[in-house]
Amino acid sequence: MIDRARELDAADPLANYRERFILPDGVVYLDGNSLGCLPAATPPAMARVVEQEWGEGLIRSWNDADWFEMGARVGGKIAPLIGAQPHEVIATDTVSVNLFKLISAALQMRPGRKVILSEPGNFPTDIYMIDGLERQGLATQRLAPRDRLLDALDEDVALLMLTHAHYKTGELFDMAALTSAAHEAGALVLWDLSHSTGALPVDLDAVGADFATGCGYKYLCGGPGAPAFAFVAERHLADLSQPLTGWFGHARPFAFADAYEPAPGIEQLQCGTSPILGLTALEVGVELIAEIGVARLHAKSQALSEFFLDCVDAHGLELDLVSPPDSARRGSQLSFRHREAYAICQALIARGVIGDFRDPDILRLGFAPAYLRFEDMAEAARHLAEVLEGEEWQRDEFNQRATVT
Ligand SMILES: *Cc1c(COP(=O)(O)O)cnc(C)c1O
Repeated sequence: MIDRARELDAADPLANYRERFILPDGVVYLDGNSLGCLPAATPPAMARVVEQEWGEGLIRSWNDADWFEMGARVGGKIAPLIGAQPHEVIATDTVSVNLFKLISAALQMRPGRKVILSEPGNFPTDIYMIDGLERQGLATQRLAPRDRLLDALDEDVALLMLTHAHYKTGELFDMAALTSAAHEAGALVLWDLSHSTGALPVDLDAVGADFATGCGYKYLCGGPGAPAFAFVAERHLADLSQPLTGWFGHARPFAFADAYEPAPGIEQLQCGTSPILGLTALEVGVELIAEIGVARLHAKSQALSEFFLDCVDAHGLELDLVSPPDSARRGSQLSFRHREAYAICQALIARGVIGDFRDPDILRLGFAPAYLRFEDMAEAARHLAEVLEGEEWQRDEFNQRATVT
């Protein structure tokens, strides 16, 4: 398969983008869906902001270097990647915090309704954030499996809140169908795009989404703990009211008035001071992903995962694929169920093939299309075959579970 892989790499229109990232030698990185790689342009951009804008400009940079506008500016650059208008998106806070603000905003827009509907097994933080609002008596959590979601949409539901690409299996929701079903039931919709943005086409405007949020450090390559983004549809901006009424969401933060007056636009979603260093790194990642383009990234993501499955077949491996077999129905990942998934993952990491393990028995391999080669697919499949056939995973060193995975 390695020869075929090299042919595919030679014909790959995105092949040259790999040089725009810093990748360690000897590593096949299949975890870009968890922490994206470092763009080569990020260290010099960080150095410039640290040394010049901070070191020299000091407080003057809030105006001179446009720090004050930075969350909105980076949000505006994320907007075309998710089918939104620039003034509908802001880069701020984490996904968790954005969920809290957006769920609360939705509850205020649907007086008399308290239920937040999601699915069991959604990314934990999404469910925990509903839980936190429930503990304050503000929301009622309702979880229904995917095939029962439509039945669970009744007149008590204020918000349907789902993750587009499931973090464990990669299975996609039909955003258009679920958004219109929720609207027909009188509910609003919030999409978590953490595992979609920068790898899959998303058109929030076309599906009529109300709210969305997503991660800056996965496919957007914004660096560990990068700010997340939040989207509010233009038609809701005038009615938007979120509970974290910090001074950066004020209409005139530097008037230092006692009375809170929300900013009229998406800026209202900001709470405290923007993390300028985090936004600097995120902006570099977003610009690079936007330059490559979501359509091309998606096409390559599908080609990579399909080729990986061909390689697995060629090695005669029979693996239990829990991701949808049709690449149009999954995100940029493949997940396999195996009783020994933890040890297999550790054995692969020891060989330089970095994927991840998700409790209790999932080996998850992510295919960040901006920097992976077909050769990486062939190599990863070869290592996987060797680990499984040699029963290398049985070694003790791969079976001691660390607390942090
Ligand atoms: C990664 C991820 C998050 C991350 O949330 P943070 O608060 O930014 O750490 C949230 N939701 C989903 C679905 C994710 O995959």
